[in-house]
Amino acid sequence: MKCPHCKQKLGFFSKTLSAFGKIKICSNCEKKIKIAFNFKLIMLLIIPVFLLHSFLLKPLVIILGFSGNGIVGIWGGILVILTMQLKSAETVQPLPK
Ligand SMILES: [Zn+2]
Repeated sequence: MKCPHCKQKLGFFSKTLSAFGKIKICSNCEKKIKIAFNFKLIMLLIIPVFLLHSFLLKPLVIILGFSGNGIVGIWGGILVILTMQLKSAETVQPLPK
């Protein structure tokens, strides 16, 4: 993920993003950022992921001798991480030109 202000790459487990609170401070430019979830994208991806899971991964996991149910939670987590975005949390937004 990149900082929306300075385009500095911020790792998912970096100090900036693992800090407590909704509003994070970029370690590079010290501006406020927040994590936003793209719910539209989650809704768009949830059906193909569910189908892929039900018809491909779950039978495979069961053949391997594991319970198929735990995998759903992992998929949910992956979906949320994939659709996570960093947005500016500065109160004064630069005007688009
Ligand atoms: Zn920054």
